[in-house]
Amino acid sequence: MTTTPSTQAMLSPADVERIRGDFPILQTEVNGHPLAYLDSGATSQKPLAVLDAERDFYLRRNSAVHRGAHMLAAEATEEFENARATVAGFVGVTADEIVWTSGATEGLNLLAYALSNATFSPEHAALRLSPGDEIVVTEQEHHANLIPWQQLALRTGATLRFIPVDDDGVLRVDLIDEIITERARLVTFSHVSNVLGTINPVSEIIARARQVGAIVVLDACQSVPHLPVDLRALDVDFAVFSGHKMLGPTGVGVLYGRGPMLDALPPFLTGGSMITTVTMEGAEFLPAPQRFEAGTQRVSQAIALAAAARYLDAIGMDRIAAHGAHVGRRLLDGLDAIDGVRVIGTAGHQYDERVGLASIDVAGIHAHDLGQFLDDRGIAVRVGHHCTQPLHRRLGLTATTRASGSLYTTDDDIDRFLQGVSDARTYFG
Ligand code: PLP
Repeated sequence: MTTTPSTQAMLSPADVERIRGDFPILQTEVNGHPLAYLDSGATSQKPLAVLDAERDFYLRRNSAVHRGAHMLAAEATEEFENARATVAGFVGVTADEIVWTSGATEGLNLLAYALSNATFSPEHAALRLSPGDEIVVTEQEHHANLIPWQQLALRTGATLRFIPVDDDGVLRVDLIDEIITERARLVTFSHVSNVLGTINPVSEIIARARQVGAIVVLDACQSVPHLPVDLRALDVDFAVFSGHKMLGPTGVGVLYGRGPMLDALPPFLTGGSMITTVTMEGAEFLPAPQRFEAGTQRVSQAIALAAAARYLDAIGMDRIAAHGAHVGRRLLDGLDAIDGVRVIGTAGHQYDERVGLASIDVAGIHAHDLGQFLDDRGIAVRVGHHCTQPLHRRLGLTATTRASGSLYTTDDDIDRFLQGVSDARTYFG
């Protein structure tokens, strides 16, 4: 569930300054200018609390979990499982519904492979896709939430269908009844677009998926870091997100599976740590979530991700969301005032339905040139197709320039970006 950011108390400029004090990297100078980090959509910066949590683990408790007969192993296991509970609570679910992955990409691949692996028992077989079944994605998706489903369709003979976007990139929700039919077995979409910054109408799409009995998979990569997200209230079957986009370390992410759905899912990776009994002929598997966690686990990263969740919680996700809406509004208002700038995905969207992110196409300037021009001034943005080639192709673009904020983004960061875009128009014009 998401709350409306604008109704919540925002972070004050003093709050943002205090927060920035927790992120030493923001003091970096780039080409003689203070860094304006506007690439949080790609990866967020990390507060000291997260760095300290990871370091502290290696200093005091480093050990493999779930196996050792010694004190360090017991402590590491306890902390690892506490981290699972913390991250689960952060998104409104329970610890046994959280599978650690390396990130959203691995979570989506795990799910897509497990669904074509559904051969272990009668309840697993019920999840198996066959020719005639349909998998519904959207034209907005990050490649991580598209290619695994293309491959699943190839493996199973199922058909891939997609909800298109309009000329501005906004999802054609008016078409969902036509596209999500009785043949749909799985519907997957992003909560927040990583290119448009728009918050998609989750409840409408889920209501339709439920009507036809399809499994719902949510890509929550760009929502969990910026909005209060309650996966239970949203009523999704599966969801993924990445630690590194929510102030946590790289190498850790989450696959959420609603209790009974996760229980019914066969494993993807097999090996140590996910079994009860192994003979030369076969193996029996642990219940979820351990069934999905083969091999030595990413302990320090999970513990540091829990520290990130606690850090975000302490500030308050409602306030962070309100700050994101403010960043988005300032970006959009400023960009609207610059001649020759097209902001993607703004049509028909209220500011409240966006996070603090905007992708632009600037007349006469290639995105890579603009990115270089901004970097010369210490402004870090992302350029290219942002892993959404089909969306860019649909909009008649090959590349855009994306500015994406976070809880540490200041008005000055945005104003410097706006000035940079405006100056680039003059320079390249
Ligand atoms: N989905 C969305 C919407 C994203 O923005 C990203 C990352 O950019 C991903 C999936 C993939 O996340 P990761 O690269 O952390 O696995």
